[in-house]
Amino acid sequence: MFRADLHCHSTFSDGTFTPEQLLRHAKEVGLSALSITDHDTIEAYTVAPPIAKELGLLLGSGVEFSTMFRGMSIHVLGYDFDLESPEIHALCARHQKRRHDRNKRILERLSRLSMPIYEEELLAMGERSLGRPHIAQLMIKKGYVSTIREAFNLYIGDGKPCFDPGEGISTEETLAIIRKGGGKSFLAHPHLLEHANKIKELLKLPFDGIECHYARFTPDKEKRWIKIAQEKGWLISGGSDFHGSVKEYISLGCSWVNEETFNKIFQRRT
Ligand code: AMP
Ligand code: ZN
Ligand code: FE
Ligand code: FE
Repeated sequence: MFRADLHCHSTFSDGTFTPEQLLRHAKEVGLSALSITDHDTIEAYTVAPPIAKELGLLLGSGVEFSTMFRGMSIHVLGYDFDLESPEIHALCARHQKRRHDRNKRILERLSRLSMPIYEEELLAMGERSLGRPHIAQLMIKKGYVSTIREAFNLYIGDGKPCFDPGEGISTEETLAIIRKGGGKSFLAHPHLLEHANKIKELLKLPFDGIECHYARFTPDKEKRWIKIAQEKGWLISGGSDFHGSVKEYISLGCSWVNEETFNKIFQRRT
């Protein structure tokens, strides 16, 4: 049976599998197609296409952009964009600068609470889209907290004492850039959103679809979003949000879409 997991993270953002390991694992668990959706970077696609080809897996371009809508953090999945698009590359570069500045401020705040982490230690975690999950890992290493969850809940989660929102890049602008890059925009994991009034406004934006099938949510929880997508004539996507060992309760392929849906979303694939 054809199954495509359209949401997972590699070592180019906060996943623990390299793109090659992700693709090999996808093959092992019997998936037919994959989209790697790193946070604010498309670097995985500098290595993934030939490996997918060799393994006989379909690969569609993907990315998960961090955006802001009326003070809410909104993740937007971009799919099927041109991997050479200058607009998409420029947006990724802008995000890397945003992350760099923001990480610095988060480290300053942690330092003020007597939990110093040197910027060099964070940068040593590699040329990748660095963010709070990496800071959380260093906090564990230094003995400041014992789990990633604890780091978020006590210090670096949204609104917590060491949180910094960073330069917000709006949802509206992100959708426009994905479109310019020839891609389609999907609202990621809406099941996790709060603030009904703002969601109503958010859904007036020109999305192409909604990520209705997500992680381990049950059909019961997905129903509402499928109905909204159908009413708007939008596409439906789905994926696991697999991160590897930093989120071990989620397995690759635990959420997926069928061949028909994959073909509707992806016109250019490798
Ligand atoms: P950032 O991209 O730096 O804003 O960090 C956000 C990422 O951290 C999310 O995409 C998740 O992968 C992860 N994350 C957010 N909240 C939590 C949490 N409470 N526990 C563990 N990981 C989280
Ligand atoms: Zn993540
Ligand atoms: Fe997300
Ligand atoms: Fe994700």
